[in-house]
Amino acid sequence: MEADESKQPERKTLDDRNRMTDLERLRHSCAHVMATAILRLWPDAQFAAGPPVENGFYYDVELQHRISPEDFPAIEAEMKQEIKANRLFEKVVVPREQALKDSESGRLGGLIERPGNPSKFKLGNLADIPEGEPITYFKSGDFIDLCAGPHVMRTGNIGAYKLTSVASAYYKGDEKNPQLQRIYGTAFKNKTELEAYFNMLEEAKRRDHRKIGQEMGLYTIDADFTGPGLPLWLPKGGAILEELEKLAKETEFAAGYVRVKTPHIAKEKMYLTSGHLPYYAESMFPPMTLLEGADAAKRPILREKFQEALHGGGELTSEKLDAFIEKAQAIFKAEELPGERYYLKAMNCPHHHRIFAAEPRSYRDLPLRLAEYGTCYRYEQSGELFGLMRVRSLNMNDSHIYCTPEQFAQEFNAVNEMYLKYFKIFGIEKYVMRFSTHVKEGLGKKYVNEPELWIQTENMVRDVLKTSGINFVEVANEAAFYGPKIDVQVWSVIGREFTLATNQVDFAVPRKFGLVYRDRDNTEKTPLCIHRAPLGTHERFIGFLIEHYAGNFPLWLAPEQVRVLTIGEDEPLVNYAKAIVQELRANMVRAEGDYSNDKINGKIQQAELAKVHTMLVIGPRDMAAGAVSVRVHGKGSLGAKPKAEVVADILAAVRERRA
Ligand SMILES: [Zn+2]
Ligand SMILES: [Zn+2]
Repeated sequence: MEADESKQPERKTLDDRNRMTDLERLRHSCAHVMATAILRLWPDAQFAAGPPVENGFYYDVELQHRISPEDFPAIEAEMKQEIKANRLFEKVVVPREQALKDSESGRLGGLIERPGNPSKFKLGNLADIPEGEPITYFKSGDFIDLCAGPHVMRTGNIGAYKLTSVASAYYKGDEKNPQLQRIYGTAFKNKTELEAYFNMLEEAKRRDHRKIGQEMGLYTIDADFTGPGLPLWLPKGGAILEELEKLAKETEFAAGYVRVKTPHIAKEKMYLTSGHLPYYAESMFPPMTLLEGADAAKRPILREKFQEALHGGGELTSEKLDAFIEKAQAIFKAEELPGERYYLKAMNCPHHHRIFAAEPRSYRDLPLRLAEYGTCYRYEQSGELFGLMRVRSLNMNDSHIYCTPEQFAQEFNAVNEMYLKYFKIFGIEKYVMRFSTHVKEGLGKKYVNEPELWIQTENMVRDVLKTSGINFVEVANEAAFYGPKIDVQVWSVIGREFTLATNQVDFAVPRKFGLVYRDRDNTEKTPLCIHRAPLGTHERFIGFLIEHYAGNFPLWLAPEQVRVLTIGEDEPLVNYAKAIVQELRANMVRAEGDYSNDKINGKIQQAELAKVHTMLVIGPRDMAAGAVSVRVHGKGSLGAKPKAEVVADILAAVRERRA
């Protein structure tokens, strides 16, 4: 599994532009319209780049006036005029000299020539256009922009739009460049879709996993003691986590996986071999240095030096402590104590590769499917940490499948089947698999230089995706370094998109680790490796599930599955209730009892607030009839039923993981 890196968007190639979706074209066109509107209000504005982005578009602008949301109605009103005028987006191809001249005169990204106010950012963008690539303008009304498109036909095609926020951004993402105002907006084909989008955002806010996670007591992040980005799972979150692991273990067992367990750290050599070092170093926690082997003899010296630094006489002050830390660091850096560097694992793969290497393997042993809920650590920037979605410790539903090329299609198909099975269990109705492939030009640079293996594995993956009828899109030039990858995107029930997991085919790293199996013809061959993690990480997946269910988990996942509530606290009644709790708990159902003398309505309300899935309300009449009155969270009362029937149904619902 490779981490998903969010980078500054690079300049779009013509290929990228051709792949822009209809909605992206519409949104980018709307950026032109927004720029036109801003220029009507502030003619000096200088524009830089205005691409479509996830959920909308932006345009970077330099302007004395600081645009705030209070300006949005005025800008939107000007935009309305432009759209009403239904202007054509006209494409004009110009020689470079012309573009240079128009930049100098301030005409590009403007409505008129602006002597003394050249289009400096457009000039910079112009310089990025390679010789030989056509230089094009797009003209809509008075606005002329240096842009390769594509756009919609006319401004009137923009059905509905709204400006959303302002941020600041450096020109071309480089902090040495001027700081610009980034105005964000979104656009849709029509008003209905626009409204649905904002309703979805509102609903997502109500379902925010950080809010519900805290209200339900699922997890906490103790930035002071444990550290930022390192969630502590509370008992109720722990219950969900255990259920997910149980699901994974059962599913993987049935699919022929074997479970392994690996440590959280490894020597530097491991990551040098896997290639994570030095390329991925900035996303790994810095190493810790241990004195081992011959160096271990130096440990007493080290202790002596530390003590001298720490207790050099007098009491311990913060200055002394600083000096101590400095000295300690110097000692570790010193040649005399090189030590052995260990890293927290950022990926489970190398550990699994070493397990493969631990025994001689024959073709008869393959496919070998090693599975583990492995904990990885990634040194995400503190500014990028976000609830459970961006964290520094991750529990990953990981597995590595080692197989022969002949076995690949079947194995890969089985992985996809597993995804579909999970989607069904969790009621995920919309998903897409983004299949990322290499391009020839990147071989030996961005991609490992194995032209035939690339084509061979990509063909295998494509065939499986096609024949299985799975919903996928193919994206060129986004593969991982060592093989094609598949990003699995899912939509929560309210229509928000999540990247759940990344699957990869790896034909390079097993070779680097010297992994071989003895084939039928008695020669040694390198296995293919499939990295897969259908349930992603606990962190991200539970974050997704909280939004998906709005915290109202199905019975099998609910942290508190059943609460038995008594009407009053008469001893026989309480004993009857306790026996039911015991029976459920004996069957591994997370059942609790509320036997207090509080009013039953208050007790029900508390259970509802805690999102307890099933409430069994018991009064004297229920007891006399050997019955219980059933309430289900969010569904209300289902009436009285025989106790044995209710218990059997609860056990069946949990076992079947009913929605
Ligand atoms: Zn992996
Ligand atoms: Zn454009």
